[in-house]
Amino acid sequence: MDYTVTSLTTTHYFHVQLQTGSWNQDTINFKMPKWTPGYYQLLNYGNAVENVVAKDDNGILSVRKMNDNTWSVTGTKNKKFTLSYDVKAEKQFVAQSYLDSTRAYLVPASVFLYADGYLNKPATIKIEPPKKWKIATGLDSANGMRNGFSAPDFDILYDCPVLMGNLDELPSFSVRGVEHRFIGYQVGSFDRAQFMQNLKKVVEASVAIIGDVPYKRYTFIAIGPGRGGIEHLNNTTFSFNGNDLHSAEAMNRMMNFLAHEYFHHYNVKRIRPFELGPFDYDQGSRTNQLWVSEGLSVYYEYLIVKRAGLANEQTLFNDFEKNINATENNPGRFYQSLTQASYKTWSDGPFGTQGEDAGKSISYYDKGPVIGLLLDFTIRHATQNKKSLDDVMRLLYWKYYKELQRGFTDAEFEQACETVAGTSLANFFDYVYTTKEIDYTTCLSYAGLRLERKDSDTGKVKKFAIRRLEKMDELQAAVLNSWLGN
Ligand SMILES: [Zn+2]
Repeated sequence: MDYTVTSLTTTHYFHVQLQTGSWNQDTINFKMPKWTPGYYQLLNYGNAVENVVAKDDNGILSVRKMNDNTWSVTGTKNKKFTLSYDVKAEKQFVAQSYLDSTRAYLVPASVFLYADGYLNKPATIKIEPPKKWKIATGLDSANGMRNGFSAPDFDILYDCPVLMGNLDELPSFSVRGVEHRFIGYQVGSFDRAQFMQNLKKVVEASVAIIGDVPYKRYTFIAIGPGRGGIEHLNNTTFSFNGNDLHSAEAMNRMMNFLAHEYFHHYNVKRIRPFELGPFDYDQGSRTNQLWVSEGLSVYYEYLIVKRAGLANEQTLFNDFEKNINATENNPGRFYQSLTQASYKTWSDGPFGTQGEDAGKSISYYDKGPVIGLLLDFTIRHATQNKKSLDDVMRLLYWKYYKELQRGFTDAEFEQACETVAGTSLANFFDYVYTTKEIDYTTCLSYAGLRLERKDSDTGKVKKFAIRRLEKMDELQAAVLNSWLGN
């Protein structure tokens, strides 16, 4: 499966030529994924595919469009042939491909057709960019091919977006001997050296949690204008504008954001729910555990930035207060559990139902980190501060990713938490599986903290603040200090 991508810069279309051969069947169904892992919505990429034509040396082969994302090619047995097509690329969004005269952002799941039943085939892509354009991607270079890249299978191909254009590269850094790069389009003006020093601290604080660097090289790929961020095994792609980073608040938000995307290379790409791999590119992969993959990544983004020394205690509290306020002011908490929100994101959207049903769902981006916080304190309390949620993440990484090389089920996640806590957490997991109201007082007190209402009692919108208890016993103080990384 050798792809060439041409026609860059002139229009909002990629032109793709796939050269393939040695098939022992006479009809092959070529399919475009309907979604890309990391963004849990059907985007129906097949709708952007046009002008599908198959040719061999003797002429045109029959191509029949079977449905929105399937093209059936006949006459393929023992032949070399070329399948060519155009892909419209005009939306500036991290999960969509985009192309104009200054840059190209290629989301592979929206550009490269796969042969149905053969996702395990290797692929190469060759890009013909205008002169002076640079290319950033997590893919390996293909031997002896200029602007060529290779992937051992389509899961890896689809995991590596490609950014091209007049790109800037920031000074790279290394952690545990592994290079970390930052490359982007229109990155803007800011203190680049300072920024990379901070980002290095974020990577170090993340690596310290799991204790392993599982890639050969990592690339932060800043796509410029657009929205959102998506995590990958050895890279992340995200919208970015360095001109917006001049306040301390904006810099904190950016470091949280990048810590989140970076930590995802552990939590969801490697520490993952059973259902999230191998992926079903045609139907979507539904799981109850996006609250673990997304919610706990939000939890860790705050902690990582704090442990990296880039945020103080108050900033950390403020981060969690936002999630607590969002959770406690949403009537959806009486209708939907965390697991239901995870499963239903495919129909509800990542931030819950909108419009008339707006109050009937929750966001695992809000309740997830809150439950992460209380779960961490519960484990620390139960183990006399000898263990924490970090131990759960390490257990999941080493047992399921490294040893068993698979994801964990809902029950296995709960079991991992109980193994570390050394006690049953059945009552606690009611916060995950049901809509039981959260008892903040008990869980926060484990770390010598409490919640205070900041608004007047008549206020419609509840506002909470996290405060230290005036008196703490030894265990409370120890839990708080080790959690804060003091
Ligand atoms: Zn995320």
